[in-house]
Amino acid sequence: MSVLGVDIGGTFIKFVAKSGNDIKKGKIPTEKSFVSITEEIKKLIKNFHPEVLGIGIAGLYDKKTGKLTASPNIRFLEGVELKEIFETEFGIPVVIENDASAAAYGEYVYGAGKNSQILICLTLGTGLGGGTVINGELLSGVSGSAMEIGHTTIDIEGWRCHCGRKGCLEAYVSSYGLERLYFFLTDQKLSSSEIITLANEGKLEAMKAIEDFSHYLSIGLMNILHIFNPDKIVIGGGIPEYYPAVIDLTVSNLKKIAFELPFRDLNISRAKLGEYSGAYGAMALADKKRKE
Ligand code: BGC
Ligand code: ZN
Repeated sequence: MSVLGVDIGGTFIKFVAKSGNDIKKGKIPTEKSFVSITEEIKKLIKNFHPEVLGIGIAGLYDKKTGKLTASPNIRFLEGVELKEIFETEFGIPVVIENDASAAAYGEYVYGAGKNSQILICLTLGTGLGGGTVINGELLSGVSGSAMEIGHTTIDIEGWRCHCGRKGCLEAYVSSYGLERLYFFLTDQKLSSSEIITLANEGKLEAMKAIEDFSHYLSIGLMNILHIFNPDKIVIGGGIPEYYPAVIDLTVSNLKKIAFELPFRDLNISRAKLGEYSGAYGAMALADKKRKE
């Protein structure tokens, strides 16, 4: 009996396959097309023969219609009837969840969020995602789009976000946000991974861009803290993975700006499953469905 979880991103599909206690994971580059994504998943299904497939996907997935209604960073999947197409193509039940919500669930079951009462997980990558697990239950929202923290406004006249709005948190706290913050300081266009490398080498401007990034992140976290009063916040995605100091910077900013009470009982840490939180969560959701 096996289950498979995949996290579909713009450039990679990450997977976690579980058979008994045996867990295998990996990462496959994909072209930016629905057909190639489907083909790669088909190969995984041939390999692992799962009974149920769990999928984490960036964007607002409508649980009622099975359609991805909006996906600011994977535009070519917007409007696609994922559930129907995938179930027909793969011939097994498919559970679909937002990628960051899947990541939150993955961290709850297998990672840094185990046993937490109110767990919030943020994923910092191409986009900024969020997920919430309350007493072991994933809070997906009525239609499936809860915790779209990336598209909450922090500056009404601020930078343009990939979703089209102005001043979303994601416009600052994401890989393209970091690239803009660096450009703003230096007039130089570098990729987020180049900026992180420079910061790790101690280059001041790159470190300053990450400091600014963490300033905006702490504002987002303050808003979350004041709404949810969580006991645990897990931060995942590429940026904290390759520049872990961003967590301490953010926590010290947060301490300065948040109310004392919700800060007192809060613990913040890096995602334990690294870039695989979403795939683990998708697998755990598939496993849950299998047992129903
Ligand atoms: C999307 C979210 C997604 C996040 C991380 C955002 O732009 O709106 O649905 O979870 O990026 O991929
Ligand atoms: Zn936005």
